[in-house]
Amino acid sequence: MADVTKKYTYDYLIVGAGLFGSVFAHEAKKKGKKCLIVDRRNHTGGNTFCENIEGINVHKYGAHIFHTNDKKIWDYVNQFVPFNRYTNSPVANFKGKLYNLPFNMNTFYQMWGTKTPNEAKAKIDEQVQEFGTDRPMNLEEQAINLVGKDIYEKLIKGYTEKQWGRKATELPAFIIKRLPLRFTYDNNYFNDKYQGIPEGGYNLLTEGLLEGIEVRLGIDYLQDRESFDSLAEKVVYTGNIDEFFNCQFGQLDYRTLRFENETHEMENYQGNAVINYTEYEIPYTRIIEHKHFEFGKQKKTVITKEFSSEWENGAEPYYPVNNDKNNELYKKYKALADADDKYIFGGRLAEYKYYDMHQVIGAALKKSESI
Ligand code: FAD
Ligand code: UDP
Repeated sequence: MADVTKKYTYDYLIVGAGLFGSVFAHEAKKKGKKCLIVDRRNHTGGNTFCENIEGINVHKYGAHIFHTNDKKIWDYVNQFVPFNRYTNSPVANFKGKLYNLPFNMNTFYQMWGTKTPNEAKAKIDEQVQEFGTDRPMNLEEQAINLVGKDIYEKLIKGYTEKQWGRKATELPAFIIKRLPLRFTYDNNYFNDKYQGIPEGGYNLLTEGLLEGIEVRLGIDYLQDRESFDSLAEKVVYTGNIDEFFNCQFGQLDYRTLRFENETHEMENYQGNAVINYTEYEIPYTRIIEHKHFEFGKQKKTVITKEFSSEWENGAEPYYPVNNDKNNELYKKYKALADADDKYIFGGRLAEYKYYDMHQVIGAALKKSESI
């Protein structure tokens, strides 16, 4: 007999087919819930989406390297697609000279000629004594306290100010704490136990997550929210939180990116997946050579130059700008979000958080426990 009490077609409407939405949908389906997922882009996967150009998986929205310390999350993603053994070891180019990243014994040798950890520590200490502060209050002070003035000026200041469009003195200290600092000759950009790229690209991960789930693309939920809301008992929203509330308290700041792709008739353009350009005068922040994420042997290569700028309406929001002003504004939207239990807010844009992929997956799994 039909269930006459059921007035919705779906249990969950999920707005956004990025990692948060896809993981949530997958878990909901596993628990027998009926989901509809919509995205305003013409593809699923959110920012992890890869476009195949010349047989190479091009990370369309910027380089994505998966890393986590959490075995559960590593096993979770590997159930959909095996991950390769790629280890991110970006190189920084400052005025034509190359330095290894993250900051490690190779970097210190290239910067100062120091050969032992004690020599490198002494050099950093000397600069911290002279230029450091007791309680670092912003990114500049934090960076100088961690690595001294030379590295700050050559490898951090220009890159950071291009990336965020703000003075390093106006940015929160936590951003720079994302980068490891180590006194070994180890160029691994991450400290996490597990790291890699899905073999065959991120789209396989998304396809695995979304198997059997109804997806509608090219649809902006906010253009027709009443009719979408009437379809489902609950709505999971992963877009910009301020936009959801019509920016009634004002707009949150985001950074957007512009990507310039080039195909080159050569096998190997720069010898590494990621090269950062750390001087301010070069307008892009980094060049990505995508084939190296999967040890590609194609005859051609595709590179992408990444340019960062302030977000404005119509552009894709990529990075929340988590300074005090925006965090205060976000709290006001969060209070509204918490007041209505029809809606669940999650992901980088809806939680206004500088989340990595493993953190978004962790957050979505946690939220889905309540299903
Ligand atoms: P998104 O992937 O942004 O998905 C949200 C989706 O919602 C989008 O597809 C959007 O179109 C859709 N949407 C929004 N509003 C609406 C609406 N009104 N109607 C319909 N659809 C809507 N993480 C790592 O772990 N390692 C990395 O190396 C890494 N590199 C990164 C590099 C760059 C340049 C960027 C920007 C991010 C990087 N990240 C990285 C972070 C990673 O992209 C995020 O953690 C993750 O993709 C966030 O998933 P999400 O589902 O929250 O958001
Ligand atoms: N950063 C830097 N120089 C570099 C790389 C990173 O100063 O060569 C700083 C910059 O402020 C950046 C932050 O470190 O925003 C975090 O870097 P990460 O690579 O984690 O940035 P994301 O992957 O989010 O683009």
